[in-house]
Amino acid sequence: MQDEPEVVVLRLGHRPGRDDRMTTHIGLTARALGADRALFVGDASQSRETVDDITARFGGPFEAEVIESYRPVIREWDGVVVHLTMYGERVQDVEADLREAHAEKPVLVVVGAEKVPFDVYEEADYNVGVTNQPHSEVAALAVFLDRLFDGRQLDREWDGADRRVVPMETGKRVVDPDE
Ligand code: SAM
Repeated sequence: MQDEPEVVVLRLGHRPGRDDRMTTHIGLTARALGADRALFVGDASQSRETVDDITARFGGPFEAEVIESYRPVIREWDGVVVHLTMYGERVQDVEADLREAHAEKPVLVVVGAEKVPFDVYEEADYNVGVTNQPHSEVAALAVFLDRLFDGRQLDREWDGADRRVVPMETGKRVVDPDE
């Protein structure tokens, strides 16, 4: 989020056709819940376009990028690398340390799709489980970002939107953002 060290989500192992929707949802969740950028590995240009389109309509800043290889990103990351995995340390045990680290340094949050190569576990500064049960990378990312930002992301402001949703008890209202 603005005025804080950046948080970047790295999505591994995109399989065209199989992972398209999940990869898009990783990007949308990263954007909505406070991350600054998403990196999609592989042939994920459709996901990037969808995320860019949402950012153009509903605001940013948020960047989505397609990259060829994740290893240089992890290896050269100048900050903290967090890999979300059901085998990791419990998020409730490490969240305070991670918030403290994020006050000083950028955080790279790595999420998988299929089997994650072991070097990712080794290169990560933290392997973190959102429960130690198998579920979804989108769910894990959402809970993790909420813990990292401690709820602050729910109040963030959006720049450059061409529309704003007015929260309502019932019904839908979308207005000009300057209204
Ligand atoms: N079977 C794969 C493996 O062993 O690496 C993981 C498949 S899972 C559907 C895809 C991704 O969801 C994982 O790479 C991880 O990032 C995330 N994930 C699933 N369950 C999780 C959990 N309990 N905590 C954190 N992340 C989780």
